[in-house]
Amino acid sequence: MTAMTATQTPPASLHDPVIGWFEQHARDLPWRRPEAGAWGVMVSEFMLQQTPVSRVLPVYEQWLARWPRPADLAAEPPGEAVRAWGRLGYPRRALRLHGAAQAITERHGGDVPSEHGQLLALPGIGEYTAAAVASFAYGQRHAVLDTNVRRVFARAATGIQYPPNATTAAERKLARALLPEDDERAARWAAATMELGALVCTAKNEDCTRCPIAGQCAWRLAGKPAHQGPPRRGQTYAGTDRQVRGRLLAVLREAVAPVPQSALDAVWDEPVQRARALDGLVADGLVEPLAGGQYRLPLS
Ligand code: SF4
Repeated sequence: MTAMTATQTPPASLHDPVIGWFEQHARDLPWRRPEAGAWGVMVSEFMLQQTPVSRVLPVYEQWLARWPRPADLAAEPPGEAVRAWGRLGYPRRALRLHGAAQAITERHGGDVPSEHGQLLALPGIGEYTAAAVASFAYGQRHAVLDTNVRRVFARAATGIQYPPNATTAAERKLARALLPEDDERAARWAAATMELGALVCTAKNEDCTRCPIAGQCAWRLAGKPAHQGPPRRGQTYAGTDRQVRGRLLAVLREAVAPVPQSALDAVWDEPVQRARALDGLVADGLVEPLAGGQYRLPLS
C-alpha cells in the first residue's frame, strides 16, 4: 500500500484550499455564530459527538433557550438534563454536561474557561472536547480529532480509506504536523477539515469531484486501495441494550412523577434484557430507583 506521510504532503499546500473551500461552503450552524459563545460551543460539542447535526439542531436550540449559561443548567437537577436530552442517544452525555456546568459555576464563576488544561480538568471533558472548545470558542491552536477529521487525514495524508477504530499516537502526531502555525488559522483549519469530512469526504460516499484537495489526496492518487484494517465497528441499534435503554428512558422523560416497574416492563418483552438495561441505567446514574419499586430521573 502506498502510504503518504505528513512529510511527503507539505501541510501548507493543504491549508489554503481546505480553508478557502470552508469559507465558501461552511454551513451556517448556530454554534458557529458569535452569539453562541463558549457555552454554546461546548453544548454543541457534547451533542455532536455521536449524533448528526440534523438531530442536534432542535435540541440545541431548546437547551440554550432554557439554559443560556452554565449556571442555569447547574441550578437544576441532573434529571432535567437527561429529560431535555430527548432522543439524542448516549444520554450519559447529558449527565456529563450537567456535571461540567456545575464545575464551571463553582470553579470558574460561571464562565467556560479558555485554557485547555482547565477545560480538560472539568468532569466529563476529554481531550477532544477540550481541544474543540479551546479552538472553536477561543481561536486557539489545537489538533481537533473527531471522526470526520480523522477520516480526511487518513485519506488525504496517510493514503488509507479509514482510520483505526481508536485514535492512535500516530494520528495525533500527524494532526499536529498538519496544524497551521498561526492560532486563528489553526482554528479555521480545525473547523474546515471537520466540515470537509462531514460534507464531502464522507464515510461511504466521498465526493472527490467536489474536494478542494483531490489533486493531493494520497488515497485517491493511489487508486483508492481497499480498507485492510480490522472490520469497522457497526452502529446496529435494533434489538440492542441501547434500544431497550432508550425505551425505558423515554417513559421516564415523559413522566412528571415516579413511574412503577409495570410501566417500564410494558416497553420491552424480554425480561432478562430489560432488567439488564434498567440496571445499567441505574448504575450510570441516569435513573434513580425509589422505595416501592418506583423509578424517576435523578434529582441529584
Ligand atoms: S479526494 Fe476524495 S478521498 Fe481524498 S480527501 Fe478529497 S473527498 Fe476525501
